[in-house]
Amino acid sequence: MQNKVKKVVVAGGGTAGWMAAALLSKTMGRTVEIVLVESDEIPTVGVGEATIPPLMTFHNILGIDEREFMAEVNGTFKLGISFQNWRQNEHEYLHSFGYAGKDCWACSFIHFWLAGKKQGINHPYGDYCAEILAAREGKFAVLPKGGMNYAYHMDAGKYAAYLRRLSEGWGATRQEGKITNVNLNPETGDIESLNLASGELVAGDFFIDCTGFRALLIEGALNTGFEDWSHWLPCDRAMAVQTESLGEPIPYTRSIAHDAGWQWRIPLQTRVGNGLVYSSKYLDDDAAEQLLRNNINGATLNDIKPIRFRTGTRRKHWNKNCLALGLASGFLEPLESTSIHMIQRSLIRFMQLFPSFGVQQSDIDEFNIQNKLEVERTRDFIILHYKVTEREDSDFWRYCKHMEIPAALEQKISLFRDSGRVFKIENELFGEESWMQVMMGQGIEPKSYHPIADVMSDNELEDFLASLRKSMRTNVDKLPSHQKFLDFYCKTKS
Ligand code: FAD
Repeated sequence: MQNKVKKVVVAGGGTAGWMAAALLSKTMGRTVEIVLVESDEIPTVGVGEATIPPLMTFHNILGIDEREFMAEVNGTFKLGISFQNWRQNEHEYLHSFGYAGKDCWACSFIHFWLAGKKQGINHPYGDYCAEILAAREGKFAVLPKGGMNYAYHMDAGKYAAYLRRLSEGWGATRQEGKITNVNLNPETGDIESLNLASGELVAGDFFIDCTGFRALLIEGALNTGFEDWSHWLPCDRAMAVQTESLGEPIPYTRSIAHDAGWQWRIPLQTRVGNGLVYSSKYLDDDAAEQLLRNNINGATLNDIKPIRFRTGTRRKHWNKNCLALGLASGFLEPLESTSIHMIQRSLIRFMQLFPSFGVQQSDIDEFNIQNKLEVERTRDFIILHYKVTEREDSDFWRYCKHMEIPAALEQKISLFRDSGRVFKIENELFGEESWMQVMMGQGIEPKSYHPIADVMSDNELEDFLASLRKSMRTNVDKLPSHQKFLDFYCKTKS
């Protein structure tokens, strides 16, 4: 059969564009021509520096060497996110990438932990999780056989440049130019070509819209529609700025809640990324800028960059012969660093359904069904952080605490509150452990636990829990400091 999709045009060269170009050129570069169009006149969004562990899978497909990548992107390791002031002011918890204790076939470790608590064994849940202990002590090492679950903090601009170099090495070509028009076939409505300001025309068989919030193809040309989720995720603005590092980088992201939003701190090897995410309904821009300035450490390295966004999703991420990736496909918000992951998931799903012999509606529908489910479950996980709070000290938090939430999330919270149970559904990004760590961190105490945890005698349970704590402690004691490991493993060139 003749390959009908012979040329894929990627519009936009931010993180999304270069991730697409890299994966397509690495895996299909011999049979499909890949052209990426981007404009030096239009900057990328310039944020997106915290990731989650599955990025490693993407890098494995590309054959990326972790040490080279980390040195190239000024990278540090991330064991999770510390949430400060989310449950209430002065309260803090860690959502780590680790798994606490040992699960059994019928229930997860938390049930044994709850049974221990009933007996008066009051060690924090984090004492059973190596990633939480290591994060708190500023330690890190890449261990064999996935002994430590981690992700990366990186410089977004350097990451795109790194992927560009790889993509061009694998045969993708970059075309400089500002897209001024998207031409549709008058009969099918498919995209045929892009006009550039220079007068050039870039034609293709399939188009990937990575033009960021502008969404020039998927929305500008195809009018796909947008589902607004701002009633659940009310933050709609951000301000971002980089600062000098004042000390050793910590191996986790910090998320610090304020009265009308929250602030991130992402430590890189030689600088810190900072930003405030807020709701313009509850905080004006001048006050937001002042709040950010008052809450950063170290001299600023650039001007504060304001960013406006709308939380929600494109009604279809694949429409006709166009796939939307990254910010062009929608945006939840950066709280759990899920955006880059969504790019990766969409790309892999697209590759699984690659329309070699022409775009078929059944492929498009399958893609959109799977994608929608995953995006909605991720959205619910983020809403959880806002909804389950004890804070009522500002209009913003009162709104979040009392807002109505999606039914699936309501069910997940009720089940955990009643019995400590959580089940991961197919295609869901966050697993049981993540849900549990955040639900407990935000203040939900399960009313009961699985009866299997009572099968052990009190002494047996005490010994079991003590042996787990001991083994975590021994493992973490052996780790070097995060800084020491960075210096040895992947010291940056910048
Ligand atoms: P952009 O970076 O905006 O790139 C758009 C590209 O399109 C640019 O190359 C531009 O030149 C090009 N373009 C646009 N118009 C034209 C035109 N007319 N002609 C030619 N080219 C054009 N994600 C995470 O995973 N982790 C995080 O910690 C995180 N933090 C975030 C914080 C904030 C405040 C925001 C807003 C987002 C965050 N994200 C995060 C999301 C992340 O930044 C994006 O998913 C990622 O950077 C991908 O962006 P993009 O490539 O879609 O868009």
